[in-house]
Amino acid sequence: MFIGHYAAAFYLKGRAPRLSLGWLFIAVQLVDILFFPLALLGVERLRIVPYFTASSHMDLEYYPYTHSLVAVWIWGLCMYLFGRGLKMNGKMAWLLFLAVLSHWFLDLIVHTPDLPIVGDRPPKFGFGLWHHKLPSFGLEMLLLMSGMLYCVSRLKAGHHLIGKYRWIVLAAVLVLAAVLQAFILPVPTSVQSLAISALLSYSLFAGMAFFMDIRQEI
Ligand SMILES: [Zn+2]
Repeated sequence: MFIGHYAAAFYLKGRAPRLSLGWLFIAVQLVDILFFPLALLGVERLRIVPYFTASSHMDLEYYPYTHSLVAVWIWGLCMYLFGRGLKMNGKMAWLLFLAVLSHWFLDLIVHTPDLPIVGDRPPKFGFGLWHHKLPSFGLEMLLLMSGMLYCVSRLKAGHHLIGKYRWIVLAAVLVLAAVLQAFILPVPTSVQSLAISALLSYSLFAGMAFFMDIRQEI
């Protein structure tokens, strides 16, 4: 899953409007943000296999340090401690933990059975929705839109300032990225190019999310 992960960030932002959307964006993708550099270093492994599934060209061979359920818990706890280090209250820091954890369960829906529980040991899990291109794209869009709408309605109800145009731009950029990835971009030429474009995308989206929380008069 790619853009759909941000649905969890929006949902959790709705639960705690004062929690930074930027940190939530980083938390929901944290294990992917760690995975790509580790793959470049050869610590974890993915192979580019054109049309490995209808929706993805990645064979995720070995990623126990970022994508086993136990590892995701540990990274979630690191994010909790990070939040506490930033003087967040306990509730907000736990929501960051949940944001990290959400990644595994959303990946579970779409990945082929490649997600381990601990280490790299079988059994591995994944319901394989990526084999069905339109349903998996539709699910990502449905998650994203429902998460965003929930978040906006909660912010409004709590009388938090909402910059309408910022939300529209953020939604447009995320949807555009999802469409590009699903239907337009060619098969990545190398793991390096895939990793760099993924990390640039995560940085761009997180930057936009931090911007959402800057006081606005619109
Ligand atoms: Zn992932």
